[in-house]
Amino acid sequence: MSKDWNKRTTLVHGGIRRSQYNEVSEAIFLTQGFVYDSAEQAEARFLKAGPDEFIYARYGNPTVAMFEDRIAALEGAEDAFATASGMAAVSGALTAMLRAGDHVVAARALFGSCLYILEEILTRYGVEVTLVDGTDLDQWRAAMRPGTRVAFFESISNPTLEVIDIAAVAEIAHAVGATVVVDNVFATPVFSRAMAQGADVVIYSATKHIDGQGRALGGVILGRRDYIRGVVEPYMKHTGGAMSPFTAWIMLKGLETMDLRVRAQAQTALTVAEALQGHPKLARVIYPGHPSHPQQALTLAQMDSGGTVIALDLKAGQEAAFRFLNALEIIIISNNLGDAKSIATHPATTTHQRLPAEQKVHLGITPGLVRLSLGLEDSRDLVADILQALDKA
Ligand SMILES: *Cc1c(COP(=O)(O)O)cnc(C)c1O
Repeated sequence: MSKDWNKRTTLVHGGIRRSQYNEVSEAIFLTQGFVYDSAEQAEARFLKAGPDEFIYARYGNPTVAMFEDRIAALEGAEDAFATASGMAAVSGALTAMLRAGDHVVAARALFGSCLYILEEILTRYGVEVTLVDGTDLDQWRAAMRPGTRVAFFESISNPTLEVIDIAAVAEIAHAVGATVVVDNVFATPVFSRAMAQGADVVIYSATKHIDGQGRALGGVILGRRDYIRGVVEPYMKHTGGAMSPFTAWIMLKGLETMDLRVRAQAQTALTVAEALQGHPKLARVIYPGHPSHPQQALTLAQMDSGGTVIALDLKAGQEAAFRFLNALEIIIISNNLGDAKSIATHPATTTHQRLPAEQKVHLGITPGLVRLSLGLEDSRDLVADILQALDKA
């Protein structure tokens, strides 16, 4: 693998390991374990396994290693650890490095399960958590203190698509010695430059754009080698959140086409956002890549694209939102994103149902809000589908 490769080449060839058969497509090493030539070799490997020496699939596996090396090269990270799901990545990345008495500052606008880990799990073990409005740098500054170990945020928040300035938050966090952990799902690995902008750890749910075809759960933690191998790997290998070899193979094949898919999806998102501007039934059309978004300049400076998701706010509230969802003919009602199939979600009653009403209001999760993940269909058909459904809303 060459450091000089551009992203598209890395996505096709990065991390490849060929067996003695010299197969073209990456092999699935569907094995839990590995045979040693001798008792002495087994002893030596348990003492210290080399980069291409494997012991047990919970610790590592050749297909999983191919995926880790490919995504690390793409992200510009020294190393990566692949996990069973995006949430295994978030919980592993945080729990592996935190201990009782540590302090975490996190943006309030988070995926529900991320919020659960921070508020319900970490606090149970004596970690103190302060939540801030992620777009307000003064709040980040005010919340930091000498014992702050981690700053955690989603670079684009779900579902209201607020963009957090990675470089600015990293500067504030690094001033007190905190580690910057970014859940970068909405930015996608295609548009991310988070490491260069100051993130120490970047996390993806591979379930989203990396698979991109709705088949498997997966996740990945990216960072410096001492953190990945010295902190994350021991935690993950003893707690059991490893990615399966079959999933790693799906994700490797997903990476091959990811750049083409995600760029096409982002183009469609912009087309749809543009087509819906000023629609009489919509109070807001939110897309970070559109000039109407208050953070368009930051978004384009940070990642050159607004991503693949937009949000619509129907003026007439939840009943109108439900009529809209039920009238869609191409776009399906579900809760994944980044998929080849366009997906509509009503966050207030599904992904964010658990939040208290006042927190929903605070986060802008209104009854009329619909999240749209744009897929690979022809954008003209998607615009027509949305417009006919809005007519019926
Ligand atoms: C989906 C998602 C996760 C969780 O990923 P899973 O693969 O579903 O476990 C975490 N963070 C964000 C921002 C997500 O969109």
